[in-house]
Amino acid sequence: MPFYDYRCQTCRRRARLFFTYGEYDTAQPTCPHCHSSAMQRVIGRVALGKSEEARFDDMADDSLMAGLDEEDPRALGQFMRKMSREMGEDLGDEFHEVVDRLEKGESPDDIEAAMPELAGGESSFADDDFGM
Ligand SMILES: [Zn+2]
Repeated sequence: MPFYDYRCQTCRRRARLFFTYGEYDTAQPTCPHCHSSAMQRVIGRVALGKSEEARFDDMADDSLMAGLDEEDPRALGQFMRKMSREMGEDLGDEFHEVVDRLEKGESPDDIEAAMPELAGGESSFADDDFGM
């Protein structure tokens, strides 16, 4: 069940209220502390994180991925470059070097061999750069 954070305008305390999506449209939130109905919705970091996650899902779903030939390093390099632009984040020198090498036509295996710091595993690369 989704929750919504509110701040009570009367007693200034925060409250987390649970509504179903259907209820939320007509809900009259009431302060659990002083029973005031002067509740103001608080948009917190949770909501922000969710929207970024949704954006990432949208990207993965869109036709971008469908046309991707993973066997073609240049296509993969362009895809990774586009991903990083969409995310609006600088993913670091290592990422750029991988993309550059892919775009020159080097295979992911060759790149991994040439960059020992990547050999530690795909996991550290994904963790650091995509925050998963
Ligand atoms: Zn209150």
